[in-house]
Amino acid sequence: MSATSFVIPPPPQASIPVAGEGKSFPVRRIWCVGRNYLEHIREMGNDERALPFFFAKHADMIVQDGGTVPYPPLTKDFHHEVELIVAMKSGGLNIPAAKANEHIYGYGVGIDLTRRDLQIASRKKERPWEVGKSFDYSAPCGALQPASKIGHPSKGKIWLTVNGTEQQKGDLTELIWSVPEIIEKLSEQVALAAGDIIMTGTPAGVSALKPGDQIECGVDGVGTLKVSIGQPE
Ligand code: MN
Repeated sequence: MSATSFVIPPPPQASIPVAGEGKSFPVRRIWCVGRNYLEHIREMGNDERALPFFFAKHADMIVQDGGTVPYPPLTKDFHHEVELIVAMKSGGLNIPAAKANEHIYGYGVGIDLTRRDLQIASRKKERPWEVGKSFDYSAPCGALQPASKIGHPSKGKIWLTVNGTEQQKGDLTELIWSVPEIIEKLSEQVALAAGDIIMTGTPAGVSALKPGDQIECGVDGVGTLKVSIGQPE
């Protein structure tokens, strides 16, 4: 036992299960890449040649595979963004791309849930994106696969269906900034550390969700994830 005593009970440690291991990966921070597939940048009307940028969600916003996401407050345009997740086992500042893979524990699939109307309103007002991106239940994550088992995927279909209808489809080969390049750029901004996960951007096909929707998504060779959208809390 540590000698530290807290004035309230410490919050639970956020985590993501590791496939087939009976163990979980403890989550420290969640970083997300703003734009990383050309077709999605085009569908959103953004600059195709801009450098990558990052925003964050909180670890306790994770929803586990099979979970339900209550339709969130304040929005009338609630979108899915399927993304490859990278989980870090170590980190530091200024990690060169050539060394980035040494810091990766594994990979998974996640959804960067977005209140699109609020995100766009923030953008227009040059305000931060939190209201559109960082809210309860906004980060569903499927089980992780260790890189020691699957290697470091650089190709493979990334897809998402809503009620069985394909909405998003892309391939990891279409990532504008590769995973090592993302780690290099992000680690110029903050020190990465064990437990950090990075959502690496979404392909085209984002669309609006409603209560009752059943989402399935995956990255071939990495994993799958199912969540349903529930009534507002
Ligand atoms: Mn995203």
